[in-house]
Amino acid sequence: MESNLEQTLYRERDPEICNMELTILGSGTSVPHPSRSSSAYWLQTKTGTILLDCAASAVHRMAQENLDWPNLDAIWISHFHLDHCGGIAPFLFGTKHAPVTRSRRKSLAFFGPKGLEGLIEAFSNANNYDLLEQPFPIEIREVEPLEKFEILKNVEAVAAVTPHTDESHALHLREGETTFVYTADTGFDETLAAFARRVDLLLMECSFVKDKPIEKHLELAEAVHLIRRAEPRRTVLTHLYPEWDAVNFEEEVRKLRPGFEIIQAMDGLRIDFGQTEN
Ligand SMILES: [Zn+2]
Ligand SMILES: [Zn+2]
Repeated sequence: MESNLEQTLYRERDPEICNMELTILGSGTSVPHPSRSSSAYWLQTKTGTILLDCAASAVHRMAQENLDWPNLDAIWISHFHLDHCGGIAPFLFGTKHAPVTRSRRKSLAFFGPKGLEGLIEAFSNANNYDLLEQPFPIEIREVEPLEKFEILKNVEAVAAVTPHTDESHALHLREGETTFVYTADTGFDETLAAFARRVDLLLMECSFVKDKPIEKHLELAEAVHLIRRAEPRRTVLTHLYPEWDAVNFEEEVRKLRPGFEIIQAMDGLRIDFGQTEN
């Protein structure tokens, strides 16, 4: 399983220049927090934009960060916990009625696990909101684990199941030679290291510092173990529960001697990555 995954996802590098930029919209969890919004990440690629998870707070965080939300191309939903998908209804309610999206004609594509279409239809049918009737077409695609799909033109995606909920998936993206993995919420699974093998940027959940109270999340030592195995160029740890507030992140990471660059996610942090770095 692991070696197959590596064969599918890992290729030798080419000097071709290719960049992506990640903006952290929400580095927090479902717990209300003064500076960490719930899960949402904006990924700018050469060919378009992807919103990775869509918490309720994402709707306004995109505007706060001056991101071009009226022209967003695709939304990836990792799983159906509301801190990852609770913004779908308010976002579609916004695009349906905002003057700025009235002239939009290109489609908005949702990608996610089996069940996504039913969930979005349920949001749409509630109270006759009719959220699927927009000035532009809405496409919904439920993906199968380890099946390649094009999330944007020239951006190849593969999803893999994770031990969090029945439907939860991690996502691997490749555009040219630039690679990226978003684990979303997950418990510990060695397979994730193969899935994220030598990516340019690994966006990984690290809900807890240690002695995690919930099995289906990661704590720091587990995240570091996976990073050592995966050897990503850089890692951003996110989905940080409020217990991280009392902790010196760099110090905790240093104690574990990961040997790889690890960054603490913060709302508003922007990271440019890809093959122009050395
Ligand atoms: Zn979550
Ligand atoms: Zn979750």
